[in-house]
Amino acid sequence: MIPPDHPRYRSLVARERLAQYAASGIVTLEGLTAHGRGEAFDYLIGEKTTISALQAEKTAAALLLSAERPLISVNGNTAALAADLLAPLQEKSGARVEVNLFHRSEERIRKIGSLLADAGVRVEEGVAERLLPLSHDRALCLRHGIYAADVVLVPLEDGDRCAALRAMGKTIIAIDLNPLSRTARTASLTIVDELTRALPHITDFCTTLSRDEAGRLAASFDNRWFLSQALEEIQERLSHALD
Ligand code: ATP
Repeated sequence: MIPPDHPRYRSLVARERLAQYAASGIVTLEGLTAHGRGEAFDYLIGEKTTISALQAEKTAAALLLSAERPLISVNGNTAALAADLLAPLQEKSGARVEVNLFHRSEERIRKIGSLLADAGVRVEEGVAERLLPLSHDRALCLRHGIYAADVVLVPLEDGDRCAALRAMGKTIIAIDLNPLSRTARTASLTIVDELTRALPHITDFCTTLSRDEAGRLAASFDNRWFLSQALEEIQERLSHALD
């Protein structure tokens, strides 16, 4: 039992949850180390949604609402941490949801699919084909899913696949606490925020943005600006860290 008044309550709950899902095969050991890297960057940005991250979340909602075939690509860590946050986002954004894994096995796809379905997410089904310009099983995706999507939200993606999706002409929205990662620099739009803080904000913006405002925001944004704001935030915090 983690005491709710522990100063690191949220972080400890997330770790416990990931450890449980690692034991059941939904999260990989590599996924646990990726989470650790994310936590380190979360310290640096102050474990809060910054003003520029909130603006990126609004822009993400605008991109999803303006898309013809929006899609959310879900991996093991995302399902473990945020299955219950994905159902409302799917409902408000109209996005399809596809399970897409770096360490892929049919068993993991099935387990993650049922975790999401239990949380009320409608998950795309079908036979994955080698459709992405990548070697190995990372090329697999659904023809009517990721392959056909124009805007893809990929929380916690790796840089390689992000670049491959961009090369296919897709608009890619990444959620990544590390503003220096290849994913962050390759995505069309990067939200430098923690996954479980970012998703509810995107959902809220999907309900409040008008069609006109969404169109305007989706047509003019600059990912370099969002990344430079995140780096400035980190520099500012570091320069006052011992005050
Ligand atoms: P890249 O290939 O993009 O250079 P990487 O090798 O760090 O980056 P991964 O190891 O796949 O990529 O890690 C995924 C990223 O997800 C990490 O950069 C980490 O900062 C970030 N991350 C992990 N957990 C969270 C979380 N809960 N919320 C937001 N970002 C997270």
